[in-house]
Amino acid sequence: MGFQEYKSSELLTKVLKENGFNVDEGIAEIPTAFVASYGSGKPIIAVLGEYDALPGLSQTTEFIKKPLKEGAPGHGCGHNLLGTAGVGAVLAVKEALDAGEVKGTIKYYGCPAEEVFNTKGYMINPGQVFENIDISITWHPGIFNGIALQSNTAMNSVFFKFYGKTAHAAADPYNGRSALDAVELMNVGANYMREHMIPDARLHYVITNGGLAPNIVPAEAEVHYFVRAPERYQVDELYNRLIKVAEGAVLMTETRLEIDFLSGTYNPIRNDVVNNVIYDKMRQIGPPIFNKDEQRFAEELKKTVPPPDFTEIKKIIPSDMLDMAMKNLEQALFPIISPPLGKGTVAAGSTDVGDVSWYTPLGEFGTACHVIGSPGHSWQNVATSGMSIGHKGMIKAAQIICLTALEFLDNPELVEKARKEFDNTFKDKGYKSPFPEGYKLPFHRLIKSGNN
Ligand SMILES: [Zn+2]
Repeated sequence: MGFQEYKSSELLTKVLKENGFNVDEGIAEIPTAFVASYGSGKPIIAVLGEYDALPGLSQTTEFIKKPLKEGAPGHGCGHNLLGTAGVGAVLAVKEALDAGEVKGTIKYYGCPAEEVFNTKGYMINPGQVFENIDISITWHPGIFNGIALQSNTAMNSVFFKFYGKTAHAAADPYNGRSALDAVELMNVGANYMREHMIPDARLHYVITNGGLAPNIVPAEAEVHYFVRAPERYQVDELYNRLIKVAEGAVLMTETRLEIDFLSGTYNPIRNDVVNNVIYDKMRQIGPPIFNKDEQRFAEELKKTVPPPDFTEIKKIIPSDMLDMAMKNLEQALFPIISPPLGKGTVAAGSTDVGDVSWYTPLGEFGTACHVIGSPGHSWQNVATSGMSIGHKGMIKAAQIICLTALEFLDNPELVEKARKEFDNTFKDKGYKSPFPEGYKLPFHRLIKSGNN
Protein backbone atom coordinates (compact mmCIF):
# COMPACT_ATOMS: atom_id res chain seq x y z
CA MET A 1 0.00 0.00 0.00
CA GLY A 2 0.94 3.66 -0.34
CA PHE A 3 4.36 4.54 1.17
CA GLN A 4 4.87 0.88 2.05
CA GLU A 5 5.54 -0.33 -1.51
CA TYR A 6 9.16 -1.28 -0.66
CA LYS A 7 9.19 -4.57 -2.56
CA SER A 8 7.81 -3.04 -5.75
CA SER A 9 10.11 -0.02 -5.78
CA GLU A 10 13.08 -2.27 -4.99
CA LEU A 11 12.28 -4.63 -7.86
CA LEU A 12 11.70 -1.81 -10.36
CA THR A 13 14.90 0.03 -9.38
CA LYS A 14 16.87 -3.24 -9.50
CA VAL A 15 15.79 -3.94 -13.09
CA LEU A 16 16.49 -0.35 -14.13
CA LYS A 17 19.96 -0.35 -12.51
CA GLU A 18 20.83 -3.70 -14.11
CA ASN A 19 20.04 -2.10 -17.44
CA GLY A 20 22.39 0.81 -16.88
CA PHE A 21 19.91 3.44 -15.70
CA ASN A 22 21.09 6.03 -13.21
CA VAL A 23 18.71 5.71 -10.26
CA ASP A 24 18.08 8.37 -7.58
CA GLU A 25 16.31 6.69 -4.70
CA GLY A 26 14.36 8.06 -1.76
CA ILE A 27 13.68 11.36 -3.47
CA ALA A 28 11.59 14.07 -1.78
CA GLU A 29 12.24 12.22 1.51
CA ILE A 30 9.98 9.37 0.40
CA PRO A 31 11.79 6.02 0.71
CA THR A 32 9.81 4.38 -2.13
CA ALA A 33 10.06 7.29 -4.62
CA PHE A 34 12.77 7.30 -7.27
CA VAL A 35 13.83 8.67 -10.64
CA ALA A 36 15.75 6.55 -13.15
CA SER A 37 17.50 8.24 -16.11
CA TYR A 38 19.24 7.08 -19.24
CA GLY A 39 20.89 9.05 -22.03
CA SER A 40 21.84 12.71 -22.06
CA GLY A 41 20.76 16.08 -23.35
CA LYS A 42 17.46 17.29 -24.74
CA PRO A 43 14.72 16.41 -25.19
CA ILE A 44 13.94 14.88 -21.80
CA ILE A 45 10.98 12.52 -21.79
CA ALA A 46 9.38 11.45 -18.50
CA VAL A 47 7.40 8.24 -18.08
CA LEU A 48 5.31 8.16 -14.90
CA GLY A 49 4.79 4.93 -12.93
CA GLU A 50 2.70 3.99 -9.90
CA TYR A 51 2.82 0.75 -7.93
CA ASP A 52 0.75 1.05 -4.74
CA ALA A 53 -2.02 -1.39 -3.79
CA LEU A 54 -5.30 -0.99 -1.91
CA PRO A 55 -6.29 -2.37 1.51
CA GLY A 56 -8.37 -5.53 1.91
CA LEU A 57 -8.54 -6.44 -1.79
CA SER A 58 -6.38 -9.55 -1.85
CA GLN A 59 -7.70 -11.86 -4.57
CA THR A 60 -6.63 -14.90 -6.56
CA THR A 61 -6.82 -14.95 -10.36
CA GLU A 62 -10.19 -16.70 -10.27
CA PHE A 63 -13.62 -15.46 -11.28
CA ILE A 64 -15.08 -15.97 -7.80
CA LYS A 65 -14.25 -13.73 -4.83
CA LYS A 66 -11.45 -15.57 -3.07
CA PRO A 67 -8.64 -13.75 -1.25
CA LEU A 68 -5.11 -14.98 -1.78
CA LYS A 69 -4.55 -13.91 1.84
CA GLU A 70 -7.51 -12.85 3.98
CA GLY A 71 -7.45 -9.11 4.77
CA ALA A 72 -4.27 -8.45 2.77
CA PRO A 73 -3.97 -5.65 0.16
CA GLY A 74 -4.59 -6.16 -3.56
CA HIS A 75 -4.08 -4.30 -6.83
CA GLY A 76 -7.68 -3.13 -7.29
CA CYS A 77 -6.51 -0.21 -9.42
CA GLY A 78 -4.04 -2.29 -11.47
CA HIS A 79 -0.98 -0.29 -10.40
CA ASN A 80 1.12 -3.47 -10.63
CA LEU A 81 0.53 -3.13 -14.39
CA LEU A 82 0.85 0.66 -14.41
CA GLY A 83 4.35 0.80 -12.95
CA THR A 84 5.65 -2.18 -14.88
CA ALA A 85 4.54 -1.04 -18.35
CA GLY A 86 6.52 2.20 -17.87
CA VAL A 87 9.67 0.24 -17.05
CA GLY A 88 9.15 -1.95 -20.12
CA ALA A 89 8.80 1.17 -22.25
CA VAL A 90 11.95 2.92 -21.00
CA LEU A 91 14.01 -0.26 -21.43
CA ALA A 92 12.95 -0.39 -25.07
CA VAL A 93 13.69 3.33 -25.54
CA LYS A 94 17.15 2.69 -24.08
CA GLU A 95 17.84 0.19 -26.85
CA ALA A 96 17.00 2.81 -29.47
CA LEU A 97 19.27 5.34 -27.70
CA ASP A 98 22.10 2.76 -27.59
CA ALA A 99 21.65 2.01 -31.28
CA GLY A 100 21.95 5.73 -32.03
CA GLU A 101 18.48 5.80 -33.61
CA VAL A 102 17.39 8.71 -31.40
CA LYS A 103 19.08 11.26 -29.09
CA GLY A 104 18.05 12.65 -25.71
CA THR A 105 17.15 11.48 -22.21
CA ILE A 106 14.52 9.02 -21.04
CA LYS A 107 13.42 9.12 -17.39
CA TYR A 108 11.19 6.84 -15.37
CA TYR A 109 9.46 8.43 -12.38
CA GLY A 110 8.68 6.00 -9.58
CA CYS A 111 5.68 7.74 -7.99
CA PRO A 112 4.44 6.02 -4.82
CA ALA A 113 1.17 6.25 -2.93
CA GLU A 114 -1.12 7.60 -5.64
CA GLU A 115 -4.08 6.11 -3.74
CA VAL A 116 -3.46 8.07 -0.55
CA PHE A 117 -1.63 11.25 -1.45
CA ASN A 118 -0.68 13.80 -4.12
CA THR A 119 2.83 12.36 -4.18
CA LYS A 120 3.57 13.70 -7.65
CA GLY A 121 2.62 17.24 -6.61
CA TYR A 122 4.75 16.86 -3.49
CA MET A 123 7.66 15.58 -5.59
CA ILE A 124 7.34 18.59 -7.90
CA ASN A 125 8.04 20.99 -5.09
CA PRO A 126 10.46 19.81 -2.44
CA GLY A 127 12.34 17.47 -4.71
CA GLN A 128 12.62 19.77 -7.74
CA VAL A 129 12.74 16.53 -9.69
CA PHE A 130 10.32 17.49 -12.45
CA GLU A 131 12.48 20.38 -13.72
CA ASN A 132 13.35 20.61 -17.43
CA ILE A 133 11.00 17.84 -18.52
CA ASP A 134 9.87 18.33 -22.12
CA ILE A 135 7.14 15.68 -22.35
CA SER A 136 5.43 13.46 -19.76
CA ILE A 137 3.66 10.23 -20.66
CA THR A 138 1.46 8.12 -18.44
CA TRP A 139 -1.35 5.60 -18.71
CA HIS A 140 -3.82 3.74 -16.53
CA PRO A 141 -5.23 0.21 -16.76
CA GLY A 142 -8.95 0.38 -17.47
CA ILE A 143 -11.82 -1.15 -19.36
CA PHE A 144 -11.20 0.81 -22.63
CA ASN A 145 -8.42 1.35 -25.10
CA GLY A 146 -8.23 5.08 -25.72
CA ILE A 147 -6.59 8.40 -24.92
CA ALA A 148 -7.60 10.20 -21.72
CA LEU A 149 -9.51 13.34 -22.64
CA GLN A 150 -11.88 13.69 -19.71
CA SER A 151 -10.53 15.79 -16.88
CA ASN A 152 -10.84 14.85 -13.20
CA THR A 153 -11.71 16.97 -10.22
CA ALA A 154 -9.17 19.01 -8.28
CA MET A 155 -9.39 18.36 -4.56
CA ASN A 156 -8.29 19.14 -0.99
CA SER A 157 -8.15 16.58 1.82
CA VAL A 158 -8.12 18.26 5.24
CA PHE A 159 -8.58 17.35 8.91
CA PHE A 160 -10.43 19.82 11.15
CA LYS A 161 -9.47 19.21 14.80
CA PHE A 162 -11.47 20.84 17.56
CA TYR A 163 -10.35 21.20 21.19
CA GLY A 164 -12.84 21.85 24.02
CA LYS A 165 -12.92 21.19 27.75
CA THR A 166 -13.83 17.85 29.29
CA ALA A 167 -16.28 17.36 32.15
CA HIS A 168 -18.54 14.65 33.56
CA ALA A 169 -21.37 14.58 31.07
CA ALA A 170 -24.00 14.13 33.83
CA ALA A 171 -22.47 15.69 36.97
CA ASP A 172 -21.15 19.01 35.61
CA PRO A 173 -21.73 19.29 31.84
CA TYR A 174 -21.92 23.10 32.26
CA ASN A 175 -18.17 23.07 32.93
CA GLY A 176 -17.48 21.26 29.67
CA ARG A 177 -17.16 22.54 26.09
CA SER A 178 -17.70 19.71 23.65
CA ALA A 179 -15.32 19.38 20.73
CA LEU A 180 -17.78 16.90 19.21
CA ASP A 181 -20.47 19.63 19.23
CA ALA A 182 -18.11 21.72 17.13
CA VAL A 183 -17.64 18.85 14.65
CA GLU A 184 -21.39 18.34 14.41
CA LEU A 185 -22.14 22.03 13.98
CA MET A 186 -19.44 22.31 11.36
CA ASN A 187 -21.04 19.43 9.46
CA VAL A 188 -24.48 21.07 9.72
CA GLY A 189 -23.00 24.29 8.35
CA ALA A 190 -21.23 22.42 5.56
CA ASN A 191 -24.44 20.64 4.62
CA TYR A 192 -26.22 24.00 4.33
CA MET A 193 -23.32 25.27 2.25
CA ARG A 194 -24.00 22.52 -0.32
CA GLU A 195 -27.05 24.39 -1.58
CA HIS A 196 -24.80 27.27 -2.61
CA MET A 197 -21.99 25.43 -4.33
CA ILE A 198 -21.58 24.89 -8.07
CA PRO A 199 -23.40 21.64 -9.02
CA ASP A 200 -20.20 19.84 -10.08
CA ALA A 201 -18.46 20.38 -6.73
CA ARG A 202 -18.42 17.60 -4.15
CA LEU A 203 -18.03 17.69 -0.38
CA HIS A 204 -17.63 14.56 1.74
CA TYR A 205 -16.53 13.88 5.29
CA VAL A 206 -16.04 11.23 7.95
CA ILE A 207 -15.74 11.82 11.69
CA THR A 208 -12.34 10.40 12.60
CA ASN A 209 -12.60 11.18 16.33
CA GLY A 210 -15.96 11.63 18.02
CA GLY A 211 -14.83 11.28 21.64
CA LEU A 212 -14.40 8.29 23.91
CA ALA A 213 -17.63 7.64 25.83
CA PRO A 214 -21.02 9.33 26.18
CA ASN A 215 -20.38 10.14 29.86
CA ILE A 216 -17.26 12.18 29.04
CA VAL A 217 -17.66 15.57 27.38
CA PRO A 218 -15.19 15.18 24.46
CA ALA A 219 -12.23 17.53 24.79
CA GLU A 220 -11.01 16.53 21.36
CA ALA A 221 -12.84 15.67 18.14
CA GLU A 222 -11.92 15.58 14.50
CA VAL A 223 -13.54 15.44 11.08
CA HIS A 224 -11.86 14.64 7.75
CA TYR A 225 -13.13 16.50 4.67
CA PHE A 226 -12.64 16.16 0.91
CA VAL A 227 -13.49 19.20 -1.21
CA ARG A 228 -13.66 18.54 -4.95
CA ALA A 229 -14.45 20.68 -7.98
CA PRO A 230 -13.64 20.68 -11.70
CA GLU A 231 -11.06 23.50 -11.36
CA ARG A 232 -8.37 24.17 -8.79
CA TYR A 233 -9.51 27.77 -8.14
CA GLN A 234 -13.02 26.47 -7.36
CA VAL A 235 -11.61 24.11 -4.74
CA ASP A 236 -9.65 26.99 -3.18
CA GLU A 237 -12.80 29.09 -3.02
CA LEU A 238 -14.96 26.37 -1.46
CA TYR A 239 -12.22 25.39 0.94
CA ASN A 240 -11.97 28.98 2.22
CA ARG A 241 -15.73 28.99 2.79
CA LEU A 242 -15.50 25.67 4.62
CA ILE A 243 -12.88 27.16 6.96
CA LYS A 244 -15.36 29.95 7.79
CA VAL A 245 -17.97 27.30 8.63
CA ALA A 246 -15.46 25.62 10.97
CA GLU A 247 -14.66 28.96 12.60
CA GLY A 248 -18.39 29.52 13.09
CA ALA A 249 -18.59 26.21 14.93
CA VAL A 250 -15.73 27.36 17.14
CA LEU A 251 -17.63 30.55 18.06
CA MET A 252 -20.78 28.59 18.88
CA THR A 253 -19.06 26.08 21.11
CA GLU A 254 -16.17 28.04 22.66
CA THR A 255 -13.70 25.53 21.35
CA ARG A 256 -10.41 25.91 19.50
CA LEU A 257 -9.66 24.80 15.94
CA GLU A 258 -6.55 23.33 14.33
CA ILE A 259 -6.48 22.70 10.60
CA ASP A 260 -4.35 19.81 9.49
CA PHE A 261 -3.95 20.00 5.70
CA LEU A 262 -3.31 16.54 4.31
CA SER A 263 -3.27 16.80 0.54
CA GLY A 264 -4.45 18.79 -2.46
CA THR A 265 -4.37 18.06 -6.19
CA TYR A 266 -4.97 19.79 -9.49
CA ASN A 267 -7.43 18.87 -12.22
CA PRO A 268 -5.55 17.24 -15.13
CA ILE A 269 -5.31 19.22 -18.37
CA ARG A 270 -3.69 16.93 -20.93
CA ASN A 271 -1.75 18.21 -23.90
CA ASP A 272 -3.42 17.63 -27.29
CA VAL A 273 -0.10 17.36 -29.17
CA VAL A 274 1.09 14.58 -26.84
CA ASN A 275 -2.31 12.87 -26.78
CA ASN A 276 -2.53 12.92 -30.59
CA VAL A 277 0.84 11.19 -30.90
CA ILE A 278 -0.33 8.60 -28.37
CA TYR A 279 -3.54 8.07 -30.34
CA ASP A 280 -1.60 7.51 -33.58
CA LYS A 281 0.60 4.95 -31.84
CA MET A 282 -2.41 3.21 -30.31
CA ARG A 283 -3.94 2.73 -33.73
CA GLN A 284 -0.63 1.50 -35.08
CA ILE A 285 -0.24 -1.04 -32.22
CA GLY A 286 -3.90 -2.08 -32.06
CA PRO A 287 -5.97 -3.28 -29.10
CA PRO A 288 -4.99 -6.28 -26.94
CA ILE A 289 -6.26 -9.44 -28.60
CA PHE A 290 -7.80 -11.85 -26.11
CA ASN A 291 -8.02 -15.58 -26.78
CA LYS A 292 -10.99 -17.88 -26.16
CA ASP A 293 -9.94 -18.80 -22.61
CA GLU A 294 -9.55 -15.15 -21.67
CA GLN A 295 -12.91 -14.28 -23.22
CA ARG A 296 -14.56 -17.12 -21.30
CA PHE A 297 -12.92 -16.02 -18.07
CA ALA A 298 -14.09 -12.45 -18.65
CA GLU A 299 -17.67 -13.60 -19.36
CA GLU A 300 -17.73 -15.49 -16.06
CA LEU A 301 -16.24 -12.57 -14.15
CA LYS A 302 -18.74 -10.19 -15.74
CA LYS A 303 -21.56 -12.20 -14.14
CA THR A 304 -20.27 -11.11 -10.71
CA VAL A 305 -20.61 -7.39 -11.40
CA PRO A 306 -23.91 -5.48 -11.40
CA PRO A 307 -25.23 -4.60 -14.88
CA PRO A 308 -23.07 -1.65 -15.98
CA ASP A 309 -24.64 1.81 -15.92
CA PHE A 310 -23.58 3.59 -19.10
CA THR A 311 -25.43 6.87 -18.35
CA GLU A 312 -22.21 8.88 -17.90
CA ILE A 313 -20.37 7.25 -20.81
CA LYS A 314 -23.34 7.81 -23.14
CA LYS A 315 -23.11 11.56 -22.47
CA ILE A 316 -19.71 11.73 -24.16
CA ILE A 317 -20.54 9.53 -27.17
CA PRO A 318 -21.80 11.36 -30.29
CA SER A 319 -25.24 10.08 -31.38
CA ASP A 320 -23.96 8.66 -34.70
CA MET A 321 -21.46 6.50 -32.81
CA LEU A 322 -23.85 5.30 -30.13
CA ASP A 323 -24.95 2.02 -31.79
CA MET A 324 -21.38 0.98 -32.52
CA ALA A 325 -20.28 1.99 -29.01
CA MET A 326 -23.05 0.04 -27.29
CA LYS A 327 -22.21 -3.07 -29.30
CA ASN A 328 -18.62 -2.87 -28.04
CA LEU A 329 -19.72 -2.10 -24.49
CA GLU A 330 -21.90 -5.23 -24.39
CA GLN A 331 -18.77 -7.38 -24.70
CA ALA A 332 -16.91 -8.62 -21.65
CA LEU A 333 -13.62 -7.17 -22.93
CA PHE A 334 -13.41 -3.97 -24.96
CA PRO A 335 -12.36 -5.00 -28.49
CA ILE A 336 -11.32 -1.77 -30.31
CA ILE A 337 -9.34 1.45 -29.97
CA SER A 338 -11.94 4.00 -28.94
CA PRO A 339 -12.14 7.21 -30.99
CA PRO A 340 -11.19 10.33 -28.95
CA LEU A 341 -14.14 11.12 -26.66
CA GLY A 342 -15.01 13.31 -23.72
CA LYS A 343 -12.88 16.42 -24.21
CA GLY A 344 -14.20 19.25 -22.05
CA THR A 345 -16.00 16.93 -19.62
CA VAL A 346 -14.98 16.03 -16.08
CA ALA A 347 -14.98 12.51 -14.64
CA ALA A 348 -15.58 11.91 -10.94
CA GLY A 349 -12.56 11.25 -8.75
CA SER A 350 -9.14 12.87 -8.63
CA THR A 351 -5.57 11.92 -9.57
CA ASP A 352 -2.14 13.34 -8.83
CA VAL A 353 -1.36 13.15 -12.55
CA GLY A 354 -3.18 16.52 -12.53
CA ASP A 355 -0.26 18.30 -10.90
CA VAL A 356 2.23 16.97 -13.45
CA SER A 357 -0.07 18.07 -16.29
CA TRP A 358 0.10 21.66 -14.97
CA TYR A 359 3.90 21.43 -14.79
CA THR A 360 4.92 19.69 -18.03
CA PRO A 361 3.10 18.86 -21.31
CA LEU A 362 1.47 15.53 -20.44
CA GLY A 363 -0.37 12.86 -22.40
CA GLU A 364 -2.31 9.92 -20.99
CA PHE A 365 -4.19 6.87 -22.22
CA GLY A 366 -5.69 3.62 -21.02
CA THR A 367 -5.80 0.04 -22.27
CA ALA A 368 -8.33 -2.71 -21.61
CA CYS A 369 -7.05 -4.71 -18.63
CA HIS A 370 -10.37 -5.20 -16.82
CA VAL A 371 -13.84 -6.48 -17.60
CA ILE A 372 -16.40 -3.92 -18.83
CA GLY A 373 -18.55 -2.87 -15.89
CA SER A 374 -16.03 -3.96 -13.29
CA PRO A 375 -16.11 -1.30 -10.55
CA GLY A 376 -12.98 0.70 -9.72
CA HIS A 377 -10.99 -0.61 -6.74
CA SER A 378 -12.66 -4.02 -6.85
CA TRP A 379 -11.58 -7.64 -6.41
CA GLN A 380 -12.57 -8.23 -10.03
CA ASN A 381 -9.88 -5.74 -11.09
CA VAL A 382 -7.34 -7.52 -8.89
CA ALA A 383 -8.18 -10.82 -10.59
CA THR A 384 -7.60 -9.55 -14.14
CA SER A 385 -4.57 -7.45 -13.07
CA GLY A 386 -2.84 -10.64 -12.01
CA MET A 387 -3.38 -12.68 -15.16
CA SER A 388 -2.92 -12.67 -18.93
CA ILE A 389 -5.85 -10.26 -19.54
CA GLY A 390 -4.15 -7.49 -17.55
CA HIS A 391 -0.71 -8.52 -18.78
CA LYS A 392 -1.78 -8.15 -22.42
CA GLY A 393 -3.12 -4.65 -21.74
CA MET A 394 0.13 -3.84 -19.95
CA ILE A 395 2.35 -4.98 -22.85
CA LYS A 396 0.30 -2.88 -25.28
CA ALA A 397 0.72 0.09 -22.94
CA ALA A 398 4.50 -0.41 -22.80
CA GLN A 399 4.66 -0.46 -26.61
CA ILE A 400 2.50 2.67 -26.95
CA ILE A 401 4.57 4.61 -24.37
CA CYS A 402 7.80 3.50 -26.06
CA LEU A 403 6.70 4.55 -29.56
CA THR A 404 5.37 7.88 -28.25
CA ALA A 405 8.67 8.62 -26.47
CA LEU A 406 10.65 7.68 -29.60
CA GLU A 407 8.49 9.99 -31.73
CA PHE A 408 9.30 12.96 -29.49
CA LEU A 409 12.99 12.04 -29.19
CA ASP A 410 13.16 11.93 -32.96
CA ASN A 411 11.18 15.09 -33.66
CA PRO A 412 12.26 18.34 -31.90
CA GLU A 413 9.58 20.32 -33.77
CA LEU A 414 6.88 18.19 -32.19
CA VAL A 415 8.40 18.83 -28.74
CA GLU A 416 8.31 22.55 -29.52
CA LYS A 417 4.68 22.30 -30.62
CA ALA A 418 3.65 20.56 -27.39
CA ARG A 419 5.50 23.24 -25.37
CA LYS A 420 3.73 26.03 -27.27
CA GLU A 421 0.35 24.50 -26.55
CA PHE A 422 1.32 24.10 -22.90
CA ASP A 423 2.43 27.74 -22.58
CA ASN A 424 -0.75 28.86 -24.24
CA THR A 425 -3.02 26.72 -22.02
CA PHE A 426 -1.41 27.89 -18.80
CA LYS A 427 -0.49 31.47 -19.69
CA ASP A 428 -3.03 32.92 -17.23
CA LYS A 429 -2.74 30.23 -14.58
CA GLY A 430 0.65 29.12 -13.31
CA TYR A 431 1.17 26.13 -11.06
CA LYS A 432 1.22 27.01 -7.38
CA SER A 433 1.76 24.14 -4.97
CA PRO A 434 -1.46 23.10 -3.25
CA PHE A 435 0.56 22.37 -0.10
CA PRO A 436 0.90 25.09 2.56
CA GLU A 437 4.36 26.48 3.25
CA GLY A 438 6.46 24.41 5.66
CA TYR A 439 4.37 21.30 4.96
CA LYS A 440 5.83 18.07 6.34
CA LEU A 441 4.76 14.65 5.12
CA PRO A 442 2.43 13.12 7.76
CA PHE A 443 3.16 9.46 6.97
CA HIS A 444 1.11 8.18 9.95
CA ARG A 445 -2.00 9.92 8.64
CA LEU A 446 -1.46 9.17 5.00
CA ILE A 447 -1.20 5.42 5.38
CA LYS A 448 -4.80 5.31 6.62
CA SER A 449 -6.40 7.91 4.37
CA GLY A 450 -7.81 7.85 0.86
CA ASN A 451 -7.02 10.35 -1.86
CA ASN A 452 -8.65 9.82 -5.20
ZN1 LIG B 1 -5.16 4.05 -10.15
